[in-house]
Amino acid sequence: MKMIKDFLYLLFPENCFGCQAVLVAGEKTICTGCQIRLPKTNHFINHENDLKIRFYGRVNFKYAIAMLHYSKHGIVQQLLRNLKYKNAPEIGYFLGNLAASEMQYYGINYGFETIIPVPLHKKRHKLRGYNQAEAFAKPIADKLNIVLDIDSIERKVANQSQTKFSGLARWQNVKDIFFVNNHVNIQNKNVLLVDDVVTTGATIESLIEEVLKCNPKSISLITIADAS
Ligand SMILES: [Zn+2]
Repeated sequence: MKMIKDFLYLLFPENCFGCQAVLVAGEKTICTGCQIRLPKTNHFINHENDLKIRFYGRVNFKYAIAMLHYSKHGIVQQLLRNLKYKNAPEIGYFLGNLAASEMQYYGINYGFETIIPVPLHKKRHKLRGYNQAEAFAKPIADKLNIVLDIDSIERKVANQSQTKFSGLARWQNVKDIFFVNNHVNIQNKNVLLVDDVVTTGATIESLIEEVLKCNPKSISLITIADAS
């Protein structure tokens, strides 16, 4: 079996989703060099970080964590693009595992009770084949033994990409796009919302408006990166 695998690998080498280099044996998804160079933030331990501060006055997060620093044309932008548009949910799994390891490493009990990835509209989900936020959320839920809730909230409108809009239009584009199916799953829980990236924050705020209607105990956010 291993011989067949090695042989296939020679015929179809895999490339790193960060830098395109051919992966060597033992590497998967992201090469060792890119892994070492991942620009990690200190958000797992610095709880009053710039992401949380940016939401002051709008959302009262218990924790707000962006795992990686974002820079235009950098490795994180490359990974996020591949995750979203290149049929590569494995990037989400890889980074979700990394996020869970960081949480375990620092030994902080964040107390999350349910994990909700930002839902995709059914149509877009079908087209892409997966929800990139869910791919990032799943290993976190699995490793930390927290419920992964992909049913309680639905996205009822397939809004257009936020990058096409500016100012007020961004808010109108995402207003009332989410719908809660099951309040009980959220009520009185420490909720962790998961997204691939924060840009304007408008989408996440729209989701939070719905979550708050269920009276959660607290709301936290984790994303791969903060691209605001
Ligand atoms: Zn690489």
